[in-house]
Amino acid sequence: MPKSLGKTKKRSKRAKSLKLIWKERHQNLYRTSMEFRDTERENSENISLTDNCEITATCSSTKLCQPLLETNTTGPSFVTTGILTKEEIEIVPKEESPIQGNRIVELGYVLEWATSLQFNHSKICSVGKLIIVEEIQKGKGLTSTIIFQCNFCDERYAYDTENPNRPKSAINVGAVWGTLATGSSYEHMTEFLSCMNIPAMNGKLFYELEAELGKEWEASLYGSMENANSREEIAIKQQQICSDGTP
Ligand SMILES: [Zn+2]
Repeated sequence: MPKSLGKTKKRSKRAKSLKLIWKERHQNLYRTSMEFRDTERENSENISLTDNCEITATCSSTKLCQPLLETNTTGPSFVTTGILTKEEIEIVPKEESPIQGNRIVELGYVLEWATSLQFNHSKICSVGKLIIVEEIQKGKGLTSTIIFQCNFCDERYAYDTENPNRPKSAINVGAVWGTLATGSSYEHMTEFLSCMNIPAMNGKLFYELEAELGKEWEASLYGSMENANSREEIAIKQQQICSDGTP
């Protein structure tokens, strides 16, 4: 076997072992947290633990490094000796989500990134959980950008509720188009969205899109008129005229 291949195999074996230890430690952490919660519910009248709480482990870096140091000697048996104590667990009240109400989204696009986000992050950080920390709506109309942050390594991710690679926002343009085509106004649209608990589009953006659509409709109208004119000229040339004099 070539020397380099042997080294790779050795490293791979070590990586697998570490992965297994981290996985089991994570499961152990969850199990201990749940046990602690149940015990506190039974024993304490002062601490009110409800489903609106999250229990997290506040391990020191030494503790977290411990399985790495013990890999060569004890291996996965660390799990049986590494049970967390009560002092290492902290109860944190669950914060209210920064996203309230409803949204109009490009569902296929959102589901695509939402279903793979946590999985992809777990490849680089197996113990962290991604939490929504912010929603940016300014200048985005009915769409928005959602910011996620890992509660362990602080890595941040930003994802849109509509594919940003489109030349124009189908959601925003569609909302303005639909409003104007039904003879409604910006005020009607905001009222409608308010009833559905959807944050309204900014008036400035609405009128900008309205002006753009106006230009497009004008150009389209001129085009249709020119086509009609040329068809009329051809009909006159070919003497295809109705009895009432219409070419
Ligand atoms: Zn993380």
